Amino acid sequence: MSAITNHMPTAELQALDAAHHMHPFTTNDELAAKGARIITRAKGVYLTDSEGNQILDGMAGLWCVNIGYGRSEMAEVAARQMMELPYYNTFFMTTHVPAIALAQEVAKLAPEGLNHVFFAGSGSEANDTNIRMVRTYWAEKGKSAKTNIISRKNAYHGSSMGSGSLGGMSYMHAQGGMPIPGIHHINQPDWWAEGGDMTPEDFGLARARELEEKIAELGEDTVAAFIAEPIQGAGGVVVPPETYWPEIQRICDKYDILLIADEVICGFGRTGNWFGSQTVGIRPHIMTIAKGLSSGYQPIGGSIVCDEVAEVIGATEFNHGYTYSGHPVAAAVALENLRILQEENILDHVRDVGAPALKQGLNELADHPLVGGVSIMGMMASLPLTPHKASRAKFASDAGTVGYMCRERCFANNLVMRHVGDRMIISPPLIIDQPDIDVFMARARKALDETYAQVK
Ligand code: PLP
Repeated sequence: MSAITNHMPTAELQALDAAHHMHPFTTNDELAAKGARIITRAKGVYLTDSEGNQILDGMAGLWCVNIGYGRSEMAEVAARQMMELPYYNTFFMTTHVPAIALAQEVAKLAPEGLNHVFFAGSGSEANDTNIRMVRTYWAEKGKSAKTNIISRKNAYHGSSMGSGSLGGMSYMHAQGGMPIPGIHHINQPDWWAEGGDMTPEDFGLARARELEEKIAELGEDTVAAFIAEPIQGAGGVVVPPETYWPEIQRICDKYDILLIADEVICGFGRTGNWFGSQTVGIRPHIMTIAKGLSSGYQPIGGSIVCDEVAEVIGATEFNHGYTYSGHPVAAAVALENLRILQEENILDHVRDVGAPALKQGLNELADHPLVGGVSIMGMMASLPLTPHKASRAKFASDAGTVGYMCRERCFANNLVMRHVGDRMIISPPLIIDQPDIDVFMARARKALDETYAQVK
């Protein structure tokens, strides 16, 4: 048995890590040059690394630790559930109490008419479920030509073949034969980067109408669904102009296209409501969930499905499912997470305290010469970095170089801010309060100053 522990020297752990552990979205050269930062424990909004540094986690892990780290109730529930029923599946006419209870609770929190949950182990799996579910739905309705799914460039919906194809990241499509057939992408409503001289309102409408143009190009009777995040997260926290979503909803209604809202980031309080769909005022048929469903304490995801789709899918045998669909320990932990979110009024905290404080702090940071603006909704935000604010110019160097430099300066100052290209991304645990937001802003300003000193 391995004797590797937290107490080993950092360099030794890093060398073992580089030798045996393949990391997502990381190169061997990066690992060999610097060694991965080793996180040993976490509490509240702070991580501790193997050198004893206290790092403010401005990303809630990967946008997921909504209730913050170190909640002992979550561990107790997991331990109890493991003793009682560590595993059973939900295939072939079996079920168990944690899956029943979690499905009921999620349906209670979801917008009206979304009363059914198909569980998965992650957001990627749930989006793969969605591809098969919407195509099966239309086939069962006698419209088997409706197979095309429209998504957006620069979207992120997961890393599996299906969900990676739904995503619109060209550098992901360049590897492994994506997208799979029948997935199409229109432009994103990113006014800051792509709006040029248009007003945000006109730009939002123009980008929404690309959906109608794509439907016309593919043939009205061939389109099954449109998928998007209410507010695109990993694409750079793209808050769409206010004209965008009403027009998308109109087009989906007009052409009888299912609307899938990917709520993996936006769900469970991140935008100040239970779901981002409520924040932007849309009526999806299916919502993808993961991350904040369990605050990342256990891997679990799913699709929340409207009555009409669930009825049609349930009328046949949907030949689809995962060994860990509705896993009892993950479900029990997710249920406890939902209890904490509700009983501690964490959504009220987001609306009344966290989001206003974050907005104010970021607006103050916007006076920094590198910061081109603030994009924020609830507690997800981004700061585009620019060499020239007024024209929203991009850096001449390869996209992402300055963002990467800034991320490294954040790390050096014990702050996690991620970069997407030359945009800095912020998505702290929802429980963060004013004093820690102040710490965030002080560290972020220092990192920006140090980055500016390197690029000016
Ligand atoms: N959908 C969105 C919007 C995401 O941000 C992610 C992950 O970041 C996923 C889906 C994929 O989720 P997972 O990493 O749990 O497979």
